Amino acid sequence: MSNILIKDGLLVESDRSWHADLLIEGEKISRIAPSIKERELPGDTEVIHAEGLCVLPGLIDAHTHYHLESRNTVTADGFAEGSKLATFGGVTTVIDFADHDKHKPLGQSAKLRIDAMGAKMAIDYAIHQGVYQVGDNLISELTQLKAIGVSAIKIFTTYKNVGYYIESGSLRQLFQACKKLEILVTAHCEDDDLLNAIARSYTGGYEAANHADLRPAEAEYKAIMTLGQLAKEVGIPLYIVHVSSSRGMEAIRQLRSENVAVYAETTCHYLLLDKTKLKGDKGPLFVMTPPLRSREDNLVLQDAMVARELQVVASDHCSFTKEQKLAALDCRSILPGIPGTEEMLPLIHTFAVASGRMSVSQMVRLLSTGPARLFGLYPRKGSLKIGSDADIVLFDPEALWTLDGHNIHSAARYTAYEGFRVVGKAVMTYLRGRLVMGDDVYIGRPGDGHFIPMGISTAYM
Ligand SMILES: [Zn+2]
Repeated sequence: MSNILIKDGLLVESDRSWHADLLIEGEKISRIAPSIKERELPGDTEVIHAEGLCVLPGLIDAHTHYHLESRNTVTADGFAEGSKLATFGGVTTVIDFADHDKHKPLGQSAKLRIDAMGAKMAIDYAIHQGVYQVGDNLISELTQLKAIGVSAIKIFTTYKNVGYYIESGSLRQLFQACKKLEILVTAHCEDDDLLNAIARSYTGGYEAANHADLRPAEAEYKAIMTLGQLAKEVGIPLYIVHVSSSRGMEAIRQLRSENVAVYAETTCHYLLLDKTKLKGDKGPLFVMTPPLRSREDNLVLQDAMVARELQVVASDHCSFTKEQKLAALDCRSILPGIPGTEEMLPLIHTFAVASGRMSVSQMVRLLSTGPARLFGLYPRKGSLKIGSDADIVLFDPEALWTLDGHNIHSAARYTAYEGFRVVGKAVMTYLRGRLVMGDDVYIGRPGDGHFIPMGISTAYM
C-alpha cells in the first residue's frame, strides 16, 4: 500500500482545527506538519489536494442496529448495506448491539454477533452487549465479555413483555458487577410501569400519531431518575441512549447536580423532527421508540447539545423499507426505527455548525471523539494523532444538496429527512488508510471491517 499525503486541508479535532498536511503510512497516521514536501517522500506517494476541505477523524456511530431481526422480519440494511451507507456519511466505525440469548453466556452472545458482522462489515465495528437477565455466574460472564473486548452493556427499563426488563434487585447486582469490572452501563430509558398504566387506562386510537401519547416524555424522566438513583447508590457512571425529550434532559441535570456521572446521547431525529410527522398516510415511516416529541423538545435538546450537556450524537439506525413500515397501521405493531447513519454528518453540520451555533470541532467531539472516549476506542479511533488509525474523512463544508430517498444509500430507500436542504458532504472516506468511498462511488469490501475491542471508558477514569 503506498503512502497517502493529504495536503492543505483544515484538520479538525475535538478541541481545535488548524491547517496542516497529514501523511498516512499503511493503516496509520504517521506525520502531521504545517507542510510536508512531496519530494521527501517515496515516489509512489499518492497526493490528495484538500484545499477548502475539512479533514475529520472518521465518525463513530455509537448506536446502530444493522441486520436486526425483529417480528419475523429483518431490517433493510444488513452489515454490508450498513457499511456502505455509513461511508457516504463519513462513518468508519459503528457500535452495534448484540442481543442477549438467555440460553448462552453473555460472551457467547457477543461472539456470535462479532463473527456474523466480521464476515460482512466493510468498516470497523465494536459491540454493546444487551443484558436482559442476571444469571448465577454474572461476574464470570462479564469478565469473559470484557476479555473479548466488549466493555459496554445495554439494558432496558421497559419491554417487560418481551423479556428485556431486569427487576431492581438483579439490577443492583448487575450495577455492582459493572462497577467492579469497569463496564459502562448504557440504558434505554422509559418507565415500564408508567407505560403499562397509560396503556391500561387509554381510550384513544392506535394510529401512528397516537404512539406519542402512549409513550410520553414523563416515562423517560421517571426511568432516568430511577436508574440514576441506583447508579448513585452503587457509585457507577451511566450512559443514557437516545435522550428524546426536555423532561429527559431535566432528569439528567437533576442527577448531575447530585454528582451522578450521567453521559447522554441523542439522535438527529430527536433534534430535528417532531411528532407532527406522525400524522397522515406517511406517519408509520416515523415510528420509533421513544417516539418523536414536540418542537419544544427539539429545541431544548439542540440547546443542550450546543451547551455540551450531551456527549454523543448517534443514529439509532434501524431501517425498514416503506413496505415494511406501512404493512401495519396500529402503532403498537408498526416496525419501529428509521435509517440515520448517513444523514448525521450533513444534518449536524447544517443545523448546528453552518448555522453558527457551534464549531466544527464540537461536531467532531459529538460524532467521533466523544463516543471514542466513552467506549474505550480512543485514541485509536476518534482522533487525528500520530499512530491513530488512518480513518479519515475529507468533508466539503460548502456542498449544497438535498436529502432524499434517491441520493441516500440505505436499502430502506427513504429518508426521514426527505427534502431537507443541507450543506456539507463527505467526499472521500478512508478506513485505516484505504479509500472506501470517493466522489460518490463506494469501493468498500465486505469482510474488510475489523472488530475493535473496547478499552476502559473515560467514564471510569
Ligand atoms: Zn436502539
